Amino acid sequence: MEAPAVRATSSDAGPLALLPLPNVRRLSGLQTEGAVCVWCGASLVPHTARDLGARPGPDGVTIFPRGCAGCVRATASDVYRIHVAACSTCLRNQPCTDRQALCRLASEGAP
Ligand SMILES: [Zn+2]
Ligand SMILES: [Zn+2]
Repeated sequence: MEAPAVRATSSDAGPLALLPLPNVRRLSGLQTEGAVCVWCGASLVPHTARDLGARPGPDGVTIFPRGCAGCVRATASDVYRIHVAACSTCLRNQPCTDRQALCRLASEGAP
């Protein structure tokens, strides 16, 4: 199977790789290819789309989802809230790198 022509820049996907996806079995082909937002299905334009990194998809295939700026912010702030309540490092008041990355994503303006 050919890899979709989507950039998978690991440096950019770092913190974005922390964001959970919807159930991958329910995603459309456009969503798994990163042609539309994996969360809301909005069509993406190159300068607002965020690569979410290579992810394990259904049936052992790798998918390359992307998200729109609004969904990335909303999802990052959800994950941030869950993280700070559950991360043993953050609970000791030592913000970990994941927390800092999530905080950046959650507060990011439109790129
Ligand atoms: Zn979206
Ligand atoms: Zn933490």
